[in-house]
Amino acid sequence: MTDNFDFVVAGSGAGGACVAARLVQSGARVLVLEKGGFARPEADAADAIGRYYGSSGLSCAFGNTILPIPTGTTVGGTTTINSGTCLRPPENLLRRWEAASSGRFRAREFERFVDEAWAALKVRRAPENTMSRCTSLVMDGLKRLGVRSGALLDRCEDGCVGSGRCCFVCPSGGKLTSYRAFLQPLNDDRRLRLRRRSQLISVRPARLPGEPVRLRYVELDTGAARTAQCRALVLSAGALATPYFVRRYNLGAGASAAGDGLTVHPASKIFAYFKEPVEGWRGVPQGFGFSDPVDEAIRYEGVYTPPEIAAITLPLEGRRLRWWMDRYRNVATFGFMIRDEARGRVRYPVGPAHPFVRYGLAPEDARRMVRAARFVAEIFFAAGAERVVLPFNRPDNEVAGLRELQAFDFQGVNSRELHMMAFHPLGTCAMGKIVDENLRACPGIYLCDGSVVPESLGVNPQITIYAFALRLAAHLTEKMLATAGKEGFHAREL
Ligand SMILES: Cc1cc2nc3c(=O)[nH]c(=O)nc-3n(C[C@H](O)[C@H](O)[C@H](O)COP(=O)(O)OP(=O)(O)OC[C@H]3O[C@@H](n4cnc5c(N)ncnc54)[C@H](O)[C@@H]3O)c2cc1C
Ligand code: SF4
Repeated sequence: MTDNFDFVVAGSGAGGACVAARLVQSGARVLVLEKGGFARPEADAADAIGRYYGSSGLSCAFGNTILPIPTGTTVGGTTTINSGTCLRPPENLLRRWEAASSGRFRAREFERFVDEAWAALKVRRAPENTMSRCTSLVMDGLKRLGVRSGALLDRCEDGCVGSGRCCFVCPSGGKLTSYRAFLQPLNDDRRLRLRRRSQLISVRPARLPGEPVRLRYVELDTGAARTAQCRALVLSAGALATPYFVRRYNLGAGASAAGDGLTVHPASKIFAYFKEPVEGWRGVPQGFGFSDPVDEAIRYEGVYTPPEIAAITLPLEGRRLRWWMDRYRNVATFGFMIRDEARGRVRYPVGPAHPFVRYGLAPEDARRMVRAARFVAEIFFAAGAERVVLPFNRPDNEVAGLRELQAFDFQGVNSRELHMMAFHPLGTCAMGKIVDENLRACPGIYLCDGSVVPESLGVNPQITIYAFALRLAAHLTEKMLATAGKEGFHAREL
C-alpha cells in the first residue's frame, strides 16, 4: 500500500524537523522519515557515541590526514548530540550570497528567519551559575595576557543544569534539540507522521505535470520496505548523506556535482594540567568563546572530553597517556576551529551507508590550526597550567611551561601531524550551484540541511540551517496556498 502525503521530509535534524513542523502548522500532511531512533541519556559517553552517532562515531575524511567527522543518527539528528551553541551567520557572507544570487536571496529577509529560529529555540546567554572551571581558567588566562576578548555564549536551552554532557545526549532534557523545539509540540497533530528507524532508500521524481514524487523507504527494525508518494520531497539527511540521492537519482541539472564543495571547520583542542582540580564535567562545556584577536577565520570555544573518550583520543600513548588519565580530574580542555579554505567531496562507491569523504587541509588552514593551538596553550600557561598536550601526532607534543612552549618548533609542524576533528560538514549541494535560491533541485525535490550552505561559515552552523528551513517552509507554504482550492497542488508546481 502506498501512503499519500503533501510532503515527505527525510531526516529530522536541524533542517528536517524545522521545515516539517512549519509545514504541518500551515495545514500540510507531512511524513518525516528518520533513520535513527529516539536517544536517551547513557551513563557512558562511549555508549552514546556507539548508539547515536553515525557509523558509531567512526566516519572520517581522508586526505593529507585522517579527519573524523561525527554526525548524529537519531531523532533530532546532530542537534541531539551537539553542544547547543548558537551563533548568527556572519553578515558579510549573507551579503555575498545576496550579490551572487542577483537579489533572489535577500540578506535582510534571511535575518528575519534567523530571529525566528532564535526565538523558537529559546536561545539565551549561558548563565554564570552554569559556567565551568575551564571557562573561568581561560577567562583568567586571557586577562593575564591582556586580551580583551570573549563572552559567555548564546545557547538553545530551557532548563540546563550544567551537567557537561551536551554532545552525549543531554540527561536533563535542558538542551533544545530540533525534535524538542519543533516536532515534539506537534505530537498530537494527526497531520504529522514521524517514522523513526525508517530510512529513505530511493526516489522517483515527477516526470510529467501532475505526477507525484514517489519514494521507497525501509523500516529498519522489521526490514519491511514501504512506498509513499507526495507533492514534494524535502531531503534533509545531512551534508554527508543528501548528495547520495541527488547523484543517484539525477535530481536536477547540477546532480553530477553534488557532493563537491564540502567544508568542515577543522577543529582541535588543547589539554592542560593544573595543580588544582578542574572537574571539567561540571558546568556547560561550550559556554564561552571568542574570535582570534588578529585572524577572524579562527574561533575558540569551550569543550569537555569525558575521560572514557579522552583515553582513546588524546594524542599520547603508554606511560604518557597513563600519566594524564591518572590526573584527569585536574585537566582542562579548550577548543578551536577555523573557517576553512579547503574544499573536499563526498562520494558513495559502496552505497549510501558508507560515504567516502576526501578532504585535505589547505596550507593556510594548517597554518591557522597551528597558530590557534599555540594561542590556547599560551592562555592555559597564563592561567597557571603546569603542562599541556599540543594537538600534534608526534612524541614531543607535551610541553611543560611557557619557556618550552616558546622553544617549540611550531613552523616544523606539517599538516599530516595535526590531530583534528571536524563537526560541521556543509556545502555539498550548495545554494546557487546544486539547488536554486528556493533550495529546489528539480520539480518536487527540495534540499534542506547543511548541504545547501554555500560556503564555509566560520561559525557554528545550526542557526543558519534552521533559518534556511524556516525560509523554505515559508516558500512552500506560499506555493501551497497559491494553488489550494484548484485540484490541489502538485509536484510540477512545486
Ligand atoms: C559533536 C557536535 C557538536 C556540535 N555542536 C554544535 C553547536 O554547539 N552549535 C551549532 O550550531 N552546531 C553544532 N554542531 C553542528 C550541528 O548540530 C549540525 O550542523 C546540524 O545539526 C546539521 O543539521 P542537518 O539538518 O544538516 O543534519 P543533521 O542534524 O545531521 O540531521 C540529518 C538526519 O538525517 C538522518 N538521515 C540520514 N540519512 C537518512 C535517510 N536515508 N533516511 C532517513 N533519515 C536519514 C540522520 O539520521 C539525521 O538524523 C555540532 C556537531 C557535532 C557533531
Ligand atoms: S550542560 Fe548538561 S544540562 Fe546543560 S545542555 Fe549540556 S548536557 Fe544538558
